[in-house]
Amino acid sequence: MKKILITGGAGFLGSHLCDALIKKGHDVLCVDNFFTGNKENVSHLITNPKFELMRHDVTFPLYVEVDQIYNLACPASPIHYQHDPVQTTKTSVHGAINMLGLAKRLNARILQASTSEVYGDPEVHPQTEDYWGKVNPIGIRSCYDEGKRCAETLFFDYFRQHQLEIKVMRIFNTYGPRMHPNDGRVVSNFIVQALKNESITIYGDGSQTRSFCYVDDLIGGMMKMMESDKVITGPINIGNPNEFSMLELAELVLKLTSSQSKLTFKPLPKDDPKQRQPDIGLAKAKLDWEPKVKLEDGLKETITFFRKLLTN
Ligand code: NAD
Ligand code: UDP
Ligand code: UDP
Repeated sequence: MKKILITGGAGFLGSHLCDALIKKGHDVLCVDNFFTGNKENVSHLITNPKFELMRHDVTFPLYVEVDQIYNLACPASPIHYQHDPVQTTKTSVHGAINMLGLAKRLNARILQASTSEVYGDPEVHPQTEDYWGKVNPIGIRSCYDEGKRCAETLFFDYFRQHQLEIKVMRIFNTYGPRMHPNDGRVVSNFIVQALKNESITIYGDGSQTRSFCYVDDLIGGMMKMMESDKVITGPINIGNPNEFSMLELAELVLKLTSSQSKLTFKPLPKDDPKQRQPDIGLAKAKLDWEPKVKLEDGLKETITFFRKLLTN
């Protein structure tokens, strides 16, 4: 059994990863500054002797002793990462340097939660790992996109320069219980609006696409990647290749919530990618991984979560 550090462990994905690793018998050190995450996400683990929670900002050095590091700390929704864009870049870049320095001192394997945003508004569809992307370096999404791209660069330079064991995972849109109800991401927005019978806000004409992966599938892929000796460094796409337009997503949410909400159309945010779909051929071949949960089933779980949250 290992001692495992999860940065951003009190966030949406991080808290599910804490659960999954503890279930496997590992000791988990969860580090978070609670910018977008919160203690409730891990409150059920507080009394577990295998779990430890530490308030810390990864832009500052961290001296702890662990065997493995999952680096997830970074706000992920556009509203949150654009709230303090300088801090977002610092979290990705200084955070990566500190966690890589820690991994180097400990000779620990380290996984980076990178993102499909490194492909920007892609001209290649679906996106394969060898595509270098089309990213605006000076736009409102750049603090996140370029921060994550620079973090990938740092990971690969620590691999080449210091022979660190790195795993770079490119996560595509993921949803599920414990998403933040106000973080502006499309799945949480649509469900919360539908449950409150408020207008469903479609940005643009709703023809833009995304491919949504259920959180349990994603976390399974993340742990497989960390443990894999076949995948030397990645990058590897992890996501669900089933692609939907935002209009299709809205219709499905309306059906599953039996909501009376009407659609309302709002301007498309700047630099909003028109389409996104992972090519997961590498994940299938090297990790023997593919997602199992259908959008409809995952949405039902997520709706149940938000229903409870809204009635509390
Ligand atoms: P989240 O906002 O719920 O979680 C991020 C966590 O990091 C939060 O708990 C937050 O408080 C913490 N954090 C932020 N800045 C920090 C700092 N400086 N020091 C310490 N902690 C800090 O988002 P999430 O959806 O769980 O995303 C987790 C990771 O996965 C992020 O790195 C994100 O970029 C990546 N990712 C997520 C998705 C997705 O669809 N959910 C897609 C691509 C990539
Ligand atoms: N670092 C850390 N914890 C450690 C070791 C290093 O937070 O256990 C930080 C350290 O503050 C440094 C960064 O990681 O700024 C990069 O470390 P590295 O050893 O790669 O570089 P250097 O210390 O030579 O700048
Ligand atoms: N979106 C929307 N209505 C909303 C929130 C988002 O139509 O209330 C759109 C958004 O413009 C984007 C897509 O849904 O095209 C996914 O947005 P999200 O912020 O969830 O993720 P990302 O753009 O980072 O993939």
